[in-house]
Amino acid sequence: MARTKIKEVLQRDDSGYKVNVKGWVRSFRNNQFVALNDGSCMNNLQVVIDLENADENLLRNISVGASLSVHGTVVESQGKGQKVEVKAESVEVMGTCNNEEYPLQLKNRPSLEYLREIAHLRFRTNTFGAVFRVRHALAYAIHKFFNDRGFVYLHTPIVTASDAEGAGEMFRVTTLPFDNPPRNEDGSVNFKEDFFGRSTNLTVSGQLEAELGAMAFSEVYTFGPTFRAENSNTPRHLAEFWMIEPEVAFNDLTDNMDLAEEFIQYVIRYALEHNREDLEFLAQRLADEEKQKPQNERSEMGLIEKLEFVLNNKFERVTYTEAIDILLNSPAYKKKKFQYDVKWGIDMQSEHERYLVEKHFNKPVIVTDYPKEIKAFYMRQNDDGKTVAAMDILAPGIGEIVGGSQREERLEKLSQRMEEMHIPAEEMYWYLDTRRFGTVPHAGFGLGFERMVLFVTGMTNIRDVIPFPRTPKNADF
Ligand code: ATP
Ligand code: MN
Repeated sequence: MARTKIKEVLQRDDSGYKVNVKGWVRSFRNNQFVALNDGSCMNNLQVVIDLENADENLLRNISVGASLSVHGTVVESQGKGQKVEVKAESVEVMGTCNNEEYPLQLKNRPSLEYLREIAHLRFRTNTFGAVFRVRHALAYAIHKFFNDRGFVYLHTPIVTASDAEGAGEMFRVTTLPFDNPPRNEDGSVNFKEDFFGRSTNLTVSGQLEAELGAMAFSEVYTFGPTFRAENSNTPRHLAEFWMIEPEVAFNDLTDNMDLAEEFIQYVIRYALEHNREDLEFLAQRLADEEKQKPQNERSEMGLIEKLEFVLNNKFERVTYTEAIDILLNSPAYKKKKFQYDVKWGIDMQSEHERYLVEKHFNKPVIVTDYPKEIKAFYMRQNDDGKTVAAMDILAPGIGEIVGGSQREERLEKLSQRMEEMHIPAEEMYWYLDTRRFGTVPHAGFGLGFERMVLFVTGMTNIRDVIPFPRTPKNADF
């Protein structure tokens, strides 16, 4: 008999049919009631063991964490909490689980910090089951969104030789012996002897290559891993994270903002429609966590409310210059509540971004037209000579979730900016070729996938929304 998923059994509204279900024991009460979970959904299926005819050995082997294959009949449940249950006719323990050793046997709810140490097992908790089902749904929705709009999914390289992007510190990729590498006469490492015949790194962004694709397919996107060796131990930074980067020919900055806004709303709506149970569980988890906080630090909205609010309200759009003025006129600034100073030209700190989003506007904010000094060389220069056509999207509780821009399509302006920023034009000939051969206005952005998952799940630490986080001094599992 083929296995039926627990989700399917729970969704059907009939009973009286025979099934085979398989999964892991979440609880075992009175030597009779097993809560079985196979990960297909949040809820467990109640399996009722025929106590009178049950073998003693079998009962001894059923324990939290053990894996079972159950044959039985789906019947209407007598008990509260579920419509149907399975009356077991035969139970096979596929793998026992020693409860003296099993860490999820703990009676108290384990902390998220502790679960990070046992990340190989944390998928089996309700919280991480929900988080990673939602993560999956968001990934699927992202592909669906772009596919439905005719974007081509472009796989940009993970190992790159270009180090011009300047998005972050890079990890070197090498096969040279690090204790005794081949050297040039001047003593520097001779990368000609290295695997690729030159110095290479893990990518920090697929954007430059995505631009090449956009110059042929008009609309492309990447969705892949990126790596930044930034030594910032924050709840919002990973050394290895996934990024989505659409790049669209003929789009200007406004089109770019419209696309980003539509995109974010689309994937949130998808999760609300397809992962309701998971999100309701996560909303309750967040509400419980909020209760631990002092009143004035609690957020006004619950998770579901917050997500619906984002769907139903346009994002606020302000220029960087307006944003700085808002900060300068804020009570927080006047009462010297900011740790970092505010003036035109600063790279806004997370405290400034959070003030704008959480205190001033109380909704997602798109900040545009940043000073060119704090942005990348490829961003399109505005006519004022001071700013570039950049846009960052800031989300409540997260800060920056998207960074994007209209790209500089004018060869002369681009070359001049590269020179100013000491970016070697010879090495970037392939990038500049797009401006030589049929250049067009174009724009794109990068969205950090884990920041999106944080936002939708209401989790507060980025280490809890990627299966196996890579952060400074940690690459376990
Ligand atoms: P931040 O200021 O938060 O470090 P950034 O300016 O370095 O971000 P970009 O280079 O614009 O970010 O990258 C695009 C997006 O990738 C960001 O908006 C963010 O969502 C995400 N991102 C950037 N760095 C990280 C990281 N270390 N871990 C997870 N996501 C990240
Ligand atoms: Mn950064």
